[in-house]
Amino acid sequence: MPEHTSNTSDVLIIGGGIIGCSIAWRLAVAGVKVTVLDRGEPGSEASWAAAGMLAPVGEQVEPPVFSDLCIASRSLYPRFTAEIEEASGQTVGYRSDGSLLVALDEKQEEELRQIHRTQTGHGFKLQPLTRAEVLSRAPQLSPEIRSGLFIPEDHWVDNQRLMRALVTACRRSGVQVEAGCAAREFLTEHDHVQSVTVEGGSCFFAKTFVLAAGCWSGEVIGWRHSLLIPCAGQMMEFEVCRDLPFVVRAGMHYVVPRPELRVLMGTTSEYRGFEKAVTARGLCSILEHTLRFAPQVAECRFLRAWAGLRPDTPDHLPILGYGETRNLIFATGHFRNGILLAPVTAEIISDLILKGVTHRPIEAYRPTRFSRESRRQ
Ligand SMILES: Cc1cc2nc3c(=O)[nH]c(=O)nc-3n(C[C@H](O)[C@H](O)[C@H](O)COP(=O)(O)OP(=O)(O)OC[C@H]3O[C@@H](n4cnc5c(N)ncnc54)[C@H](O)[C@@H]3O)c2cc1C
Repeated sequence: MPEHTSNTSDVLIIGGGIIGCSIAWRLAVAGVKVTVLDRGEPGSEASWAAAGMLAPVGEQVEPPVFSDLCIASRSLYPRFTAEIEEASGQTVGYRSDGSLLVALDEKQEEELRQIHRTQTGHGFKLQPLTRAEVLSRAPQLSPEIRSGLFIPEDHWVDNQRLMRALVTACRRSGVQVEAGCAAREFLTEHDHVQSVTVEGGSCFFAKTFVLAAGCWSGEVIGWRHSLLIPCAGQMMEFEVCRDLPFVVRAGMHYVVPRPELRVLMGTTSEYRGFEKAVTARGLCSILEHTLRFAPQVAECRFLRAWAGLRPDTPDHLPILGYGETRNLIFATGHFRNGILLAPVTAEIISDLILKGVTHRPIEAYRPTRFSRESRRQ
């Protein structure tokens, strides 16, 4: 490996979303020389487009080993965000005020009862609420709501602010962040990656490589696209007259408070390749469902709408750890939970690099779990 060039580092991370930058920051704080390559502006894809909910209890993620990982990551969040705020000098809008699930019909009421039973059984404290109790906590919600379930341990973060702060924290701690630098190919010799070539022809060298390019990771490694499946989600932003005190969700539709009297309303779940269009159908479906429980937003000023691509996988679980190539680590496929899972992913990957082991069980996420045939182009 050539020494002393700006294209040479201890660890080269491909992808500057929340996953790549969280890993980079953690390694840099431990004294590792890290470079992050991003095809565009770091933090401008799924990690920017997301709603920022940190909701492992209400979302009831499966299987149990994955639920444990999500809950562990939620527990790491207060410290993670405090450290990023200190390192960057910027606030990230981490809020621990809890989240509210609401039911508008009998089917949703049964879902809330089931979540309450299951999660109380796992030791979480959830508060079932009558319609009157829901409306006394958030009078701007609809009287059509039949009941609610308040989840004190589901939090949220302003992921757009977090991303900005994370990139600043990375740069301040010495990470070389290369924007507009698209990785094209790994050059491998005897089960070892030697370097990565980028568009324009330059080469980047490192001892260890981390693939964290979200739903584009399959393209970079040469896997068939079907292993990383883009799942588009559309989002709308409005200016409101009165702050919402917490996230409110009914099924897959939600309203998420943001600073300065703004709310996000989402979302859709669309499998249409790498297409990120905002569509009339998508926006109509968001409005149809969210205005039923948050009708006052109907009179509010529309600010903007966007779409992002969640990196889904065939079993909907992330891909973490070493594969068949000895110095290449995967940190991708976080699907709907990448904001939530950033601190624990950074911990796992940095432990693998610094100590050679992680104390978290990651067998379920091993990159080699998919057949060799489906991993080859
Ligand atoms: C609408 C929506 C709502 C969501 N809500 C939530 C939520 O509430 N809570 C939650 O936990 N998660 C949520 N998610 C999921 C979350 O956003 C993702 O799981 C997470 O952002 C994935 O992070 P990432 O860093 O892997 O990917 P990304 O943020 O997509 O970053 C990948 C990066 O890789 C770069 N890249 C691509 N190709 C190359 C290349 N060849 N060379 C170099 N760089 C490359 C891209 O430019 C990009 O910056 C949501 C997602 C969407 C779309």
